[in-house]
Amino acid sequence: MAASSYFNVSRETIDRASLEALQLERLRFTVGQALKTSFYKRRLARAGIDSPDKIRSLDDMLRIPFTTKDDLREAYPQGLLAVPLDDVIRVHTSSGTTGTPTVIHHTRADIVNWTELVARCIVATGAHRGDVFQNMTTYGMFTGGLGLHYGAEAVGMMVIPASSGNTLRQLKLMQDFRTTVVHATPSYMLHIAGVLKQEGIDRASLALRKAFLGAEPYSENTRLKIQQIMDMDVYNSYGLSEMNGPGVAFECEHKNGMHVWEDAYIVEIVDRENLSPLADGDEGEIVFTTLQREATPLLRYRTRDLVSVIPGPCECGRTHRRLGRITGRSDDMLIINGVNVFPSQVETVLMGVKEVGTNYQIVIDKHGELDKLTVDVELYGKAFTGELASLERLRDRIAEQLKASIVIHPVVVLHEPGSLPVSEGKARRVIDRRPKD
Ligand code: ADP
Ligand code: ZN
Repeated sequence: MAASSYFNVSRETIDRASLEALQLERLRFTVGQALKTSFYKRRLARAGIDSPDKIRSLDDMLRIPFTTKDDLREAYPQGLLAVPLDDVIRVHTSSGTTGTPTVIHHTRADIVNWTELVARCIVATGAHRGDVFQNMTTYGMFTGGLGLHYGAEAVGMMVIPASSGNTLRQLKLMQDFRTTVVHATPSYMLHIAGVLKQEGIDRASLALRKAFLGAEPYSENTRLKIQQIMDMDVYNSYGLSEMNGPGVAFECEHKNGMHVWEDAYIVEIVDRENLSPLADGDEGEIVFTTLQREATPLLRYRTRDLVSVIPGPCECGRTHRRLGRITGRSDDMLIINGVNVFPSQVETVLMGVKEVGTNYQIVIDKHGELDKLTVDVELYGKAFTGELASLERLRDRIAEQLKASIVIHPVVVLHEPGSLPVSEGKARRVIDRRPKD
């Protein structure tokens, strides 16, 4: 591939030995920053680390205890700040999907570095200066808005900071400004695809080429569905506010796993029960250590996201390893009548059924002693024009396919398009009504 298809060619194609040397140098920097915070000073003292000099090899990192989301919550709001407040130019928080949001502070250098990582991701997808980029994730504390915005400007795309919501306006912006690249959550993109169909908007009136979709788990079937309805290339984007936000890992033009920028993060995959290290190819919890961040250094941060590293090199020439799809969060797992169910299993089945539309919801109730799983599914409008018996057959077919995947038998309820709640950011797919004890 030509050098022009990289944002920072020497960094993106760095050989392994140089990368590891850079990681070690930056790990020492991070430990030095961490020791400036009361939280890590205490924590690292217990591991016998009172100076960056104690880190002589990358393996020495294994002595450092993990950092958890609860640690970040306890340190709220400034317990992890490693620089004077005057040097901080921005604060972000997580979306708070699983509880109190966590806070990350950024210095000017932190923002510059983050911006480069996002720009590398964008260029890796084949997007470039001259593209018109409509950013349809929420602007604000959520990192998806400003994160992609800065990266896209660095690449030189024309940015439309549309933020999320108001779908008809989004479609009009796409038409009026000839948008070529969009960024959204997969659930919002599905919704837009549904509205496009429902409103009978001509695809030819849109100039769309590419979509960056992330911030929540989605299956390969969802990618295929969106690509098919919207006739554009969908790239998976992974990030979390604790590691800046978007720009941590992104698919390149080969769309076969997401390159994770290993000069900015040390990646470990660990067994989600006993936290022992796993090899490439094995699925476990992904753990990150920041390598560049000044204001909020994080050491061995447990994300609770489940994923595996895809072994082997990528044809694009980038040497940074690739992550497969995030299959879910370890705390996403539902236990229904004793059986472990991941919402992603339900999604994979539903999005593979061609009559199924663009929205669904999973509801769990208590029915006497037993848990009851209901899957509410929107169908495409034309599915309702046939006879009742064929709808019943479709319902039974979906229920059987779900049972084959998740083992338990769900109640499937079919809905017309537009009946279920719309999500403009991260979808709330699971409603667990069981009493908490
Ligand atoms: P919160 O953790 O409150 O949702 P964030 O906005 O920081 O806050 O979201 C980061 C999380 O979103 C990740 O840890 C992961 O669980 C999820 N996520 C982000 N991108 C993806 C993706 N491409 N696929 C699956 N999950 C993703
Ligand atoms: Zn690649």
